[in-house]
Amino acid sequence: MSHPLVIANWKMNLPSKGISEWVLNEMISSNEEKDFEEKTSFFKFMGVCPPISHLSELKTLMNFGHFGSQDISRFQDGAKTGDISADMIIDRGCTFSIIGHSERREFHNETNDVVSEKLKICLEKNILPVVCIGECLEDYNNGDTLDVLENQLKEIFSSIISENKLIVAYEPIWAIGSGKTPSAKEVNNIHQHIKDIVQSVANINDINIIYGGSVKRENAKTFFLEKNIDGALIGGASLNGREFLDIYNDFMETL
Ligand code: PEP
Repeated sequence: MSHPLVIANWKMNLPSKGISEWVLNEMISSNEEKDFEEKTSFFKFMGVCPPISHLSELKTLMNFGHFGSQDISRFQDGAKTGDISADMIIDRGCTFSIIGHSERREFHNETNDVVSEKLKICLEKNILPVVCIGECLEDYNNGDTLDVLENQLKEIFSSIISENKLIVAYEPIWAIGSGKTPSAKEVNNIHQHIKDIVQSVANINDINIIYGGSVKRENAKTFFLEKNIDGALIGGASLNGREFLDIYNDFMETL
């Protein structure tokens, strides 16, 4: 079964020209000649996480790719106002979920323990988790990146044993939305380290590591060309369907 590796995270935004323009004119127009089967196969590594309120609209226009949520509740059900459960996102057609995004950590005080609870729910419910980790600028400047990531991974993964597939998204906080990025070579080395830690702590073998933080058309391919960079999580640039598609095409060319 294929799974998303180039993922659009719209956050609490909608494409400026609207969802139908994003899909029909920016995304599909250059693939118009492809039939349904071809589209399904071509877009098998694409994932989109719109605000959950707009998922149905997107799905009626886009019958290819994978759909995900930007977060899930750490609870299964009940009196948890504002939360959306794993079962609810499955019911809406989501096959994967971002968890532990730095904006959840910053604005909703999510800790590694909370992320670990969400990870367990994803694995239990067969939702592909996209687990976000990353260091702040100070840690990066002090050369502490690997220690910080190791600590995050140990706290999130220590009690996990699973044969399910999972994705870790390495997202340096200082790179998100800033236009700055580490070099592709640096990211490549960090991803190797992440893979080694997850495998040693959690006994999970089926893992992909994707990069997120100011990925744009201009820099995407340099990341995709690296051996340990399996894809990308894309915020700002994904709001433009044409740019997101160009990034996706670059990814497909490096396979
Ligand atoms: C993100 O928030 O996950 C992200 C990578 O954002 P951007 O691409 O805008 O840096």
